[in-house]
Amino acid sequence: MAQAFEIRGNLCNLCGYQGPDFQLRGHSHPVLYEQEVIGSQRRPVDCPKCKSSDRDRLCFSFLQSTWRPSPNPQILHIAPEKSLSQRILQLLEEKKGGENWAHFQYLGLDKRTGLYRYPSWVQRGDILRLPYDDQSLDLIIANHVLEHIRDLTTALQELQRVLKPNSLLIAQVPWAQKLEISSLSPSVNRLSRAFWQRKNHGQYDHQWLFGQDLIHLMAKENYRAQFWKEPEASSLCVNTLEALMVYKN
Ligand SMILES: [Zn+2]
Repeated sequence: MAQAFEIRGNLCNLCGYQGPDFQLRGHSHPVLYEQEVIGSQRRPVDCPKCKSSDRDRLCFSFLQSTWRPSPNPQILHIAPEKSLSQRILQLLEEKKGGENWAHFQYLGLDKRTGLYRYPSWVQRGDILRLPYDDQSLDLIIANHVLEHIRDLTTALQELQRVLKPNSLLIAQVPWAQKLEISSLSPSVNRLSRAFWQRKNHGQYDHQWLFGQDLIHLMAKENYRAQFWKEPEASSLCVNTLEALMVYKN
């Protein structure tokens, strides 16, 4: 049973909060500790002010410091996290002003728009049939999405179809350090599967638990991993063991 996090820092780069009161997030099912799952264990990382998570702050830190968008970028954010997406929109406005783009497009999509009470800019849609043209997007963000998608190959091909060549996919997933081969739950009825997934994947709705072969699974669909870590001296209350899963297509 091992802990898969080392949290450093006390600053939120999304809302500016700084302090000691980051709140608990995550789960404590035994499998998450047996498999040392990064990104799922219970840990004190939720911002008390804007509710952002460690991975939201890691993602924004990458976009702010390292991402070099082409002019007039087209961006899709699947299942957009509230404070992260608000801050990305702000960043795009800043970059547009600084680099004299004419425009940008920031699209939101989720299968269950009703359930999560998204703002109206988030469109209802399915990752298996994206409502966008071939090679039309410069960046796709889909954090903690792929582990919910049973037909992973179709989803990855669909994301590949809408991305322009040499563009970026940011696709953070819970990652089991001890698991050699990624696990897909058995094809049984919905209720049995939910129980099975809770016990074996640590969450009732996680069809997948990704393991050491994740980079190869992605490479099979022509995504090249370019994982990114916040520098050691991070101040952002992030898990220093967690890399941001960035891929180039
Ligand atoms: Zn915050």
